Amino acid sequence: MSACLVAVAVPVPSLGRLTYRVPADLPRPVVGARVTVPLGSRHLTGIVLAVDVGDEGHALKDVTAVLDTDAFLPPDVVALAVWVADYYLAGPGAALSVALPPHGLTGRTDAFKTARRLSVTPAGLDLLAADEAGTGALGPGGRALSDVQRQTLRAAASVPDGVSTAELETRGGSRSAVARLRAAGLLSVRTVRVERDPFVDGRHASVPAATSPRVLTDEQASAFDAMAAWLDAREFTPVLLHGVTGSGKTELYLRLAERARAAGRQALVLVPEIALTPQVAALFRSRFGDRVAIQHSALADGERHDQWHRIRAGEVDVVVGTRSAVFAPCARLGLIIVDEEHDSSYKQDETPRYHGRDVAVVRARTAGALVVLGSATPSLESYANARAGRYQLVRLARRVLDRPMADVRLVSMREEMAEAGGEVIVSRALREALQQRLDRREQAMILLNRRGYAAAMLCRQCGHSLECPQCSVSLAIHRRRSGPGASPDDRRHWAARCHYCNHARGVPSACPQCAAPYLEHVGIGTDRVEAELRAQFPDIRMARVDRDTVRRRGSLVRLLERFARRELDVLVGTQMIAKGHDFPDVTLVGVISADVGLGLADFRAAERTFQLLTQVAGRAGRGERRGEAIIQTLFPTHYSITLARTHDYEAFYDKEVAYRHAMRYPPQVAMVNVVVKGRTYDAAMQGAQDLAAAVRTEAGPAVTVMGPAPAPLARLRGDYRAQFFLKGTHRPSMGQALRRALEAHPDLARRATLDVDPLTML
Ligand code: ADP
Ligand code: ZN
Repeated sequence: MSACLVAVAVPVPSLGRLTYRVPADLPRPVVGARVTVPLGSRHLTGIVLAVDVGDEGHALKDVTAVLDTDAFLPPDVVALAVWVADYYLAGPGAALSVALPPHGLTGRTDAFKTARRLSVTPAGLDLLAADEAGTGALGPGGRALSDVQRQTLRAAASVPDGVSTAELETRGGSRSAVARLRAAGLLSVRTVRVERDPFVDGRHASVPAATSPRVLTDEQASAFDAMAAWLDAREFTPVLLHGVTGSGKTELYLRLAERARAAGRQALVLVPEIALTPQVAALFRSRFGDRVAIQHSALADGERHDQWHRIRAGEVDVVVGTRSAVFAPCARLGLIIVDEEHDSSYKQDETPRYHGRDVAVVRARTAGALVVLGSATPSLESYANARAGRYQLVRLARRVLDRPMADVRLVSMREEMAEAGGEVIVSRALREALQQRLDRREQAMILLNRRGYAAAMLCRQCGHSLECPQCSVSLAIHRRRSGPGASPDDRRHWAARCHYCNHARGVPSACPQCAAPYLEHVGIGTDRVEAELRAQFPDIRMARVDRDTVRRRGSLVRLLERFARRELDVLVGTQMIAKGHDFPDVTLVGVISADVGLGLADFRAAERTFQLLTQVAGRAGRGERRGEAIIQTLFPTHYSITLARTHDYEAFYDKEVAYRHAMRYPPQVAMVNVVVKGRTYDAAMQGAQDLAAAVRTEAGPAVTVMGPAPAPLARLRGDYRAQFFLKGTHRPSMGQALRRALEAHPDLARRATLDVDPLTML
């Protein structure tokens, strides 16, 4: 009888599938089980990908231990990770490490948190009864119970499940008495498992009191009926739910999840960033109680671990999570929801560079599930799929209760500057509208999608700008102190910082190049807007929301809650304030500059601008009062801006997709971005040229290779970067050409990063 051979993935990113022999004295592992295998001089824990694989002919090493008798990772999740590795041209180990819980490969099963509970034994209860009856009960050591001992026994007896030591003391007992009572057999100690519940530590929105389901609007009702029928059919059905901002998509998600649960199936709800959409998780929690699990990377390891094991044990009906939750070990999946499916945070920006939305569709196909991609501004990819009939299209064209969309006004900043001077940050129209809101006690949001105080420091004499020594970008200017009372112009408190590598330095008073004392700050960021608004509205109750102000865990949730409680009138911030929030008293949205993203050398610039403007305008007027948005721009005729003004997604799609067709960009073609790093410019370019040449040799005529050229971010963290693109309509042949080229150049494989379906071109 020949030995059993297994394919194993280990958590080493550069390695592919490895084949090992299972010796006869070990049990045959199943797919998804953990095994220990030798690799070089080390022993590693890996996951079994396949059993009884073919012999590759050379001497194989033996598996040294089989750690699980059943699958640790469900086989369908293993298959999904393998799909991700193939499609995104990554190693299976890298893909699996996204799917595993924290400490998943250490083989430790004791990572649960435990607590001790103290209970009174039957002997202790008898003694307490005798003591109370005054029948001369003898306690530890044959003596009468002391007061402390009596109190301690009573405290422990007061809770049926026993008490923790902390509770013991609040109930009048004393931990100093425990040891003697235990030794006398009057108290017993049990160890119990405690769930670390991410909802109780204030990092999530407080869970609203259970809301009763509302009466659906007609439009919601027909959308729901259609989707419910597909859910009931138990067949894979991909749906694009295109619903304008405020059309009530969340209520449909809740009801679909409820229906899945009633049929004994689970729902997986993906959201862009939990911290940005705490309301969604909280709403599910309020409807489904503790049958909801949360999965995202900002959880502490312990919390993530506990939540993962609850899902694995089938103890939950709904999983709410960010991109990696697409790998959650749900065995009875009937529904997957991808909220704000256009959001770029679904794409992972390190290996494996997978797109959570696209993986969700693949997972739904294997599970025979309904997958609903929801957005007011669908990605071009998803809308193209809907137009082509690959996805069902369900529309919500109106806001609930026929509330009007926000009125959007454009302010041409060229004209404004001509009339009001070149230094304008807040236009007269926006200032007046804001004053009105403050007078009426309504709320406002002000967006500028760039953080910091200024974009750069520039010398007026020689044109030199302060640059990062490691990256080819200007250093942004940050104030070390901001908020009320901070002086905006005090350069001693400024720092120049790189937004890519975090390199920081002080701001010199003279130009480092020509020594002239004419260094000026150029370009504005959110902190500058905050300073400007504080100067113009001294009593404003305002907070800033960007990555600088919400660095600490939970601080964003607290800010959003203060805004919801009306303790703040204005939020100023980056795109973080544009996402999904539902604050009914916001009646004004201001955009300081709509143009921040338009200048980028990126074919998605217009799409991103349209999405951001439509989404942020969608935050206004969601309650009973009508909303207004004021957008300041230097390009008031750009189609991404004019069509956001009229909320005309269809027109935007048609225009943008025509451009993509003409230029052969996605979704018209598939694309892979290959970046090769080097110590010098020449090394990077040479490496990229060699690799591109190898790809050209391997690829058939259906694949176009463009480049190489220096990447737009030509230096990053000290490395030089050159890039080339593959374009084509047949992804498998593109992938195969790349794999073969990398096999022929193992040295370059280590220096190359591959991005399949890239979202940015940097
Ligand atoms: P979307 O996600 O589509 O932008 P939401 O789901 O946040 O919109 O809904 C917008 C607002 O309308 C929310 O405050 C929500 O509670 C409310 N809402 C949803 N459905 C109804 C309904 N049928 N009747 C009344 N209000 C509703
Ligand atoms: Zn840098």
